[in-house]
Order: sequence, then structure tokens, then C-alpha cells
Amino acid sequence: MKLAAESVYVDRLARVRKEMSARGVDSLILSVGHDLPYLTGYQAMPLERLTLLVVPREGDATMLIPRLEAPRVVEMPSVFSLLPWNETDDPIAIAHRVLGSATTVAVGDRMWSRFLVDLIAHRPSTVWARSVTVMEPLRSRKDAAEIAVLAAAGAAADRVAAQLHSGEIRLVGRTEADVSADIGARLIAEGHDKVNFAIVAAGENAASPHHHAGSRVIRGGEIVLCDFGGTMDGYCSDITRCVHIGEVPADIAEAYAVLHEAQSAGVRAGTIGTPCEGVDAAARSVIDAAGYGEWFVHRTGHGIGMEEHEDPYMVRGNATPIEPGHAYSVEPGIYIPGKWGMRLEDIVVATTDGPRALNAANHDLVVVAG
Ligand code: ZN
Ligand code: ZN
Ligand code: ZN
Repeated sequence: MKLAAESVYVDRLARVRKEMSARGVDSLILSVGHDLPYLTGYQAMPLERLTLLVVPREGDATMLIPRLEAPRVVEMPSVFSLLPWNETDDPIAIAHRVLGSATTVAVGDRMWSRFLVDLIAHRPSTVWARSVTVMEPLRSRKDAAEIAVLAAAGAAADRVAAQLHSGEIRLVGRTEADVSADIGARLIAEGHDKVNFAIVAAGENAASPHHHAGSRVIRGGEIVLCDFGGTMDGYCSDITRCVHIGEVPADIAEAYAVLHEAQSAGVRAGTIGTPCEGVDAAARSVIDAAGYGEWFVHRTGHGIGMEEHEDPYMVRGNATPIEPGHAYSVEPGIYIPGKWGMRLEDIVVATTDGPRALNAANHDLVVVAG
């Protein structure tokens, strides 16, 4: 991932400490996962040697690091100091010492239990909490630099969608898996560092929202659902477009018109202060009113950022008000088991000027030649 200016991390650390004070957290510990690079620009190696950032509410943050991995870290003295440990040291004992008298400790969601369980044994009277309580308010509100990267990733995904629409990505006679690999290669060619997924689902397979692209050969006269995304400079893209090979039958055309209207209603609903569930309701009510409600079987969207799916979720029951910088998908779908499925997905960022879509690829059910 691209390293931001040191001042960005200084600012984030100050904000996380404010959240820690507000929530009575004495110390925050982060290992593998996305919270660590968010605060330090460093991604821990997901191996058996412990990397651990210890952020006390007051005082300096310390990053324990296996000595052999220390050269990977870009040091930022105004953010954290580095504490390398040697092969024969006990890093859990060191972490325990660095934590000192902290009573309430928030732990990164993805820290491995092998480390946490051992640390718990050292500290029987510590109260443990999840890092999401102090990190979520920061990470869900993307700053300008993060939005710029999300927009660049979205534009790259759009270019691949345009290749799908133009017929440049050949479909008929190829397997879903083959087309999936092709889309993945194109995501990389357009600037992503990594492919996260490329769902390609033809005909009746499109009725399974998280279908795994397989050996099914794509034929003329069917709908093909493509949902793909990758990571670019540490941030994710995620887009869904459907194409139809040859003339669109009336039942599919009719349903797609409803889907298209539902998706744009969902996008438009994302104004500041609207509860997240309002975005879901806006999209769902269009689909319900047209009689397809029972075939829209998932939530309308998920937050996106360093992770493909993160807070906030656009789902009934989530009353969290939308705030400037919230980035999320709007992706209603209609799935008729055994027949066909369709979904339309854009990433949207909430701004004080209204929702800003980060995807602009053609929203129609584009007809591609057999
Ligand atoms: Zn999904
Ligand atoms: Zn998607
Ligand atoms: Zn999505």
C-alpha cells in the first residue's frame, strides 16, 4: 500500500486517542489486519512471529516487531517507536510489560488467538474490548486522500466494465472460470495491485448471489452477471454489471428496468443524516412494489475501504446515520432460482453535496453479440 504523509498518521493517532478517552480504553493493541496499516502505514506479516502496535491513551505508541522484519518498517518517530525482539525473546512477555498498568485494553479484530490467549494468561485482571469500538468511527469516515484512492480504484473497475460492455471480453463458448481469470487480469492491467474476487455467473447460475465461477460454459441467449473488484494502493473496488448475449427476453427486460430504478433510488437516498437502513429501504421498496420482493434476498450494501466489506452496512436495522466520508456499495439484486439473476452495484461516497457515485460505467443491461 502507498504510504501517506506522516502528518496523516499523526492526525489519525490523535483522533483514535480521543475515541479511547471517550470510551474508557487505556490501551489499544493491533497486530495483523487493517487497523495497523491505517494507523502506521505498516502491514504486519501474517506469520507466527508477533508484530504488535501498543497505543496507550497517553504516552508514546510502540511497535513490537520481529528483528528480522524491522527493516520492512518505515519508521515514523512522531507516530510510534520500534521495539524489535530477538528470536529467543518471549514477545508476549514484552507486550505484557509494554502494556504496563493498562486496565481496559482494546484488541484488533484480527489478532490471532494464539497471541491473545497467551497475553490474557499474563493479565488476569485486564478488561478486554474490541478495537472496532475506537477504530470504526475513524475508518468508516474516509478522508480526502482515501476517497481519492477509492475513486481511482472505482474508475479502474469501470474501465474493465466497459471492456465487458464493448464485447472485448469474449463470453460465448468460454467457461465462467476462464472469463473470471480474464477479468482479474484486466483489473491488474488497469492498475489494481491485487484481485479480490471476480464472480462470473451465467444464466441460472446468476440466481446465486455469491456464485463461484466454475466450469459452466457460457452460451448465447443468456444473462451473465459479473461482480468484481480488487485492491489498489490499499483500497478496494467493487462493481457489478450484467450483460445479455443477444436479444433480451421480456421477463428479463422488465425485471432489469425495476432493478435499475431500485439501484438509482438507493444511490439517491444516501444523504447525510439518513439512517443506513434508509438506503436499503429506498432500493427495496421499488423492488417490492414491482412484485419481486421475495427474490431480493440480501442487504442492499456494505461499507468499503481497506476491506471489501466493512462498516457501515446498508441493511434493515442499522439506524446509524450516514456521515460525510461514509463509502459503501448500493447493490440490489433480483434472483429467480433455476432461471436467472441480476444485480447492479456501484460504490458511493456520502458528501455534504449529496451522494457521489464512484462508478460511472453504463448501468443498462447491455446486449453483447453472440
Ligand atoms: Zn458480496
Ligand atoms: Zn460486488
Ligand atoms: Zn459489493
